[in-house]
Amino acid sequence: VLYEVYPEALRRRSVSGKVPLVVKRKSLRIVVTGGAGFVGSHLVDRLIGRGDSVVVVDNFFTGRKENLMHHFGDPRFELIRHDVVEPLLLEVDQIYHLACPASPVHYKFNPVKTIKTNVVGTLNMLGLAKRVGARFLLTSTSEVYGDPLQHPQVETYWGNVNPIGVRSCYDEGKRTAETLTMDYHRGHGIEVRIARIFNTYGPRMCIDDGRVVSNFVAQALRKEPLTVYGDGKQTRSFQYVSDLVEGLMRLMEGDHVGPFNLGNPGEFTMLELAEVVQETIDPNAKIEFRPNTEDDPHKRKPDISKAKQLLGWEPTVSLRKGLPLMVSDFRQRIFGDHKAGGA
Ligand code: NAD
Ligand code: UDP
Ligand code: UDP
Repeated sequence: VLYEVYPEALRRRSVSGKVPLVVKRKSLRIVVTGGAGFVGSHLVDRLIGRGDSVVVVDNFFTGRKENLMHHFGDPRFELIRHDVVEPLLLEVDQIYHLACPASPVHYKFNPVKTIKTNVVGTLNMLGLAKRVGARFLLTSTSEVYGDPLQHPQVETYWGNVNPIGVRSCYDEGKRTAETLTMDYHRGHGIEVRIARIFNTYGPRMCIDDGRVVSNFVAQALRKEPLTVYGDGKQTRSFQYVSDLVEGLMRLMEGDHVGPFNLGNPGEFTMLELAEVVQETIDPNAKIEFRPNTEDDPHKRKPDISKAKQLLGWEPTVSLRKGLPLMVSDFRQRIFGDHKAGGA
């Protein structure tokens, strides 16, 4: 039961004689795997902020304690150093399963480990959900669509993924994670949710993770040229992190399994993104072309009709509004002001 009525509310009666409808949500115990990372730490802030207890499970491969230090000492917050590839026993109500490196540089660093994290790690967290009857949310990715032949991408599209390429450890790993999630749902009746997240940016991204937004912002701040890969005409849709976190929470609390695309439909070429970065940080920033990486998807843009209709969700922060919010955090971290994370 997720809701309980205030005892006082039952005793007090309104003038009309009716019991006032004052209900309080029960505080939940929630696991966030990968909670020391970029998206996870913002999610933890919201969950703690609304009064829930949070256990973060993270092996600190790409996550940082600094992202969570502001919760240390809060009795509702726990941080466990643990690799999800190993089994884990906990008693919880909900599991947000984010653990997995997200940037191509990080997930290609040890591809076999990336697959293990996605497959064995997801299996373990599903096993945990099954044992304690918790609701399980998987953060999948737009990469399940590969180099898409359908544009924009709708959830019913099955994708165009290379099974033997350098990105496959991530793409196929997440596809298998989705399969496992649905098989535990159908086979064991556990409550599951699947989010397919499109490119997300914001404060606390790893500065040198090689993703395009973090690269361009760091480069512009350091007065280095912006490195555009290939001809720069490939497109992506960039979502601000607070919009994503809102979508994940609505998905978890809602009644629909998904999968749901969570992304900002605003589509930009990498050259257009470079222009926005120039406008925001340094109009004199130079652009330098570099060879593109293997299997780079040519375009990507979410169709979010399903999330709009069934979750009542859509992004509210445009790229031009969101980018400056990230720049102040990057500036602090790059130029040696040792303050934690940023908001
Ligand atoms: P991130 O790298 O900042 O965070 C991932 C976290 O998982 C890190 O704290 C890392 O230390 C932890 N981790 C990795 N492997 C682990 C393991 N084996 N055991 C325990 N912890 C482990 O990445 P992010 O951008 O915050 O991404 C979070 C999730 O969202 C990932 O599952 C990612 O695939 C998904 N996603 C992100 C984006 C995006 O644009 N940021 C897009 C699509 C999907
Ligand atoms: N698991 C876990 N925590 C739990 C329950 C299970 O880490 O609380 C792991 C377990 O070690 C197993 C996986 O989750 O490797 C799948 O568990 P399940 O019970 O579904 O499968 P089985 O153990 O029967 O193969
Ligand atoms: N990219 C770029 N310059 C960079 C880093 C990336 O032009 O410094 C390009 C990359 O080739 C890709 C797009 O930006 O076409 C998005 O790359 P990212 O690694 O951010 O995310 P993903 O490929 O996973 O969408």
